[in-house]
Amino acid sequence: MSDSKPRIHVIGTGGTIAGIGPNRLDYTQYAELGKKLSIEQSLERIPEANDIANIECEDLISVGSPAIGPTEWLNLGRRINTLLNTADIDGVVVTHGTATLEETAYFLHLTVKSRKPVVITGAMRPPTAFGTDADLNLMDAIRVAATPDAINNGVLTVLNNEIHSARDVYKANTLRVETFRANEMGFLGYPDSDGEVLFYRAPTRKHTFSTDFDVEDLTELPRVDIVYAYAGSDSLLVEAVRKNRSDGMVLTGFGSGTLPPTMLETGAEAAQEGIPVVLASRSTAGRTVITPRITKLGFLVADNLHPQKARILLMLGLTITKDHDILQQMFMTY
Ligand code: ASP
Repeated sequence: MSDSKPRIHVIGTGGTIAGIGPNRLDYTQYAELGKKLSIEQSLERIPEANDIANIECEDLISVGSPAIGPTEWLNLGRRINTLLNTADIDGVVVTHGTATLEETAYFLHLTVKSRKPVVITGAMRPPTAFGTDADLNLMDAIRVAATPDAINNGVLTVLNNEIHSARDVYKANTLRVETFRANEMGFLGYPDSDGEVLFYRAPTRKHTFSTDFDVEDLTELPRVDIVYAYAGSDSLLVEAVRKNRSDGMVLTGFGSGTLPPTMLETGAEAAQEGIPVVLASRSTAGRTVITPRITKLGFLVADNLHPQKARILLMLGLTITKDHDILQQMFMTY
């Protein structure tokens, strides 16, 4: 009987889902104390998962996700690509802190070279606390990775009984368990209370196996910095990025991408000097769009990607080209 079950590989990276608190009422200190379950210990808490999949696991790292960035993305991506190229592995689940989960998910969404399911999960309440979501989220992530319906859908996040596309999902609330949202894009489906895993829609933008990005041999990514606009913000931080000669910059503007005058001027100067500058929005939904003025100033627009995701796409785009039009086309493609 076990032979017909899918083989799912679970990679632990740390985060709240592995956090060990001092008592059952602790929802904050566990992260500072830094004690963590291994992925094997997390899986021992959900023996039910063995009924649906043949599970194997490894701890890649064991950190809070504020400590995860491009180096860890590259290592994780390489490991996932190796695993999924192994013929009899059917899917990968990654456990991850929620702080930067959406960024790791989007990086993998653009760089994993496989149609097989890759599901990222985390938790808002550590396994030692009352009402923890750690066990259910890990169980749900395995259930999603084990279903053939998850194939071809890119990298998925699964928390709070919801399946999201890595492209659209973001952490919307600091402490609530229902924190992962996709605003008007909505979620894709759910691992539901009756044990069914249901998909109602699929991502339409290119991802995973259909992207042009190949980072397999890279040890670092181009540097892209984000500068945030606020009423009265001036050229100080844009100038710092420009002087640093960063490879690219994302400007997080107001609403549809407008900026305070001196920030706009300095950003345009940077763009004219050859630093690709992408305009994103501090609004959490909606697009920044191309206008004659934006074109004249030399800016790119992020479409509806949040600034932290526009940064990742620009970093990856810059591994291929610095050409303005090709980079802009990527923001309409991915
Ligand atoms: N501090 C945690 C992290 O690793 C937060 C979490 O997992 O919810 O991101």
